[in-house]
Amino acid sequence: MAEQNKMEKIVSLCKRRGFIFPDSEIYGGLANAWDYGPYGAELKNNIKRRWWKKFVQDREDMVGLDAAIIMNPETWKASGHLSEFSDPLVECLKCKKRYRADELEAETCPACGGKLTNPKKFNLMFKTFIGPAEDSANVAYLRPETAQGIFVNFKNIMDTMRPKLPFGIGQIGKAFRNEITPGNFIFRTREFEQMEIEYFMAPPEKDKDWQAVFEDWREQMLDWMKKLGLDVKRNIHELEVSEKERAHYSKKTIDFEYEFPFGKEELYGLAYRTDYDLSQHAKFSGADLSYTAEDGKKIIPHVIEPSLGVERTVLAVLCESYGEENLTQPSPSQGEGKIETRVVMKFPFWLAPVKIAVFPLLKNKPALVKKAKAVFAKLKVDYACEFDDNGNIGKRYRRQDEIGTPFCVTIDFDSQELDDVTVRDRDSMKQVRVKIGELKEYFEKKFK
Ligand code: ATP
Repeated sequence: MAEQNKMEKIVSLCKRRGFIFPDSEIYGGLANAWDYGPYGAELKNNIKRRWWKKFVQDREDMVGLDAAIIMNPETWKASGHLSEFSDPLVECLKCKKRYRADELEAETCPACGGKLTNPKKFNLMFKTFIGPAEDSANVAYLRPETAQGIFVNFKNIMDTMRPKLPFGIGQIGKAFRNEITPGNFIFRTREFEQMEIEYFMAPPEKDKDWQAVFEDWREQMLDWMKKLGLDVKRNIHELEVSEKERAHYSKKTIDFEYEFPFGKEELYGLAYRTDYDLSQHAKFSGADLSYTAEDGKKIIPHVIEPSLGVERTVLAVLCESYGEENLTQPSPSQGEGKIETRVVMKFPFWLAPVKIAVFPLLKNKPALVKKAKAVFAKLKVDYACEFDDNGNIGKRYRRQDEIGTPFCVTIDFDSQELDDVTVRDRDSMKQVRVKIGELKEYFEKKFK
């Protein structure tokens, strides 16, 4: 499968099957903005829920937070975003197209070969106004990262939760960046969601002190990527970001890059932010953001930050799970020997938007429908289930394969007598008969 082609196929499947739609499409859309349909929303929620459980709820050294998007604008002076959070922008003097200078290889316009302006700093923060007067006194910003919501709440968390170092604060939420060159479907958008952790530790005496914590988080992130089903050995590359390209607050950054169909690009980042943010906020706000150590000494903790984008996670999972298989039709009635392509999303089970689909073989047989509805009602207590009685069974399987449903349960004429069903496995396409009374146990094992 040509890689460019693969991307087009994924975008088209997402639209056709209710994962991701172009934003405000009835008005002609808005470039590089996307809406998540029923299955996309489930997929995203499964990712966020699992992340929250793994990194916040299951750990004794972590607490969660949900801070506001629009913060006191002083925040951005202190954090350095007002002066530093910019990309170098160049414009073609001929066709007026704009580019990020650091992403261009040639010195002339890639579109028309025209001469480019000198780079100027373009701040990526979205500006807005608070209240009815649009004057400079009321300027505010949409947060470009969730991290600052965590730093400004450091004192609140200390006062209320009394955590001991090292400990972390995790947050999931929207962030906004007025990107110069968004694109590649949901890879780079101006509105996106982050899952971020600020992990606070005592100021390191030696480099190896912070390096050990950094290494631990590097492994935690790799473990998370494996849970997502990503082929870490083949598709994930770690890139140590050079000093010149590092964010203004960082002493060391690793980018985890994923082999997307459009090239190797950043999926997640891991950064050592030192005590930069807490020190800056202490200075600008006048608040005491220190931590009192065992020996009574006041210290400013240092920070390791694993930063994960929700949409890039969705995209990596879609790319990794997408598969095409050539099937040969087995029977003359289906056109013996004819090759048909099966498109299947092989999501890890926990990620699948629908876990089990339940079908009556025919929709005009009330007894079958009734029995199928009863099975559906039982299964949906424990699993995200879908009931489908539309079209022939082959079509229904194809649809469930495309949305990545691990199992389909069919109630047919034999079910009436034998009180059993057919369970069809997404990956092997094998079918087995299971007694209705044993279904619960059967799926408990499968989804363990
Ligand atoms: P890039 O180099 O791709 O612009 P970045 O290094 O600026 O990314 P960070 O500031 O490290 O990104 O942001 C942390 C994470 O947030 C990224 O690893 C990515 O998963 C996500 N992210 C950042 N910018 C965007 C965006 N415009 N659209 C979608 N996700 C994003």
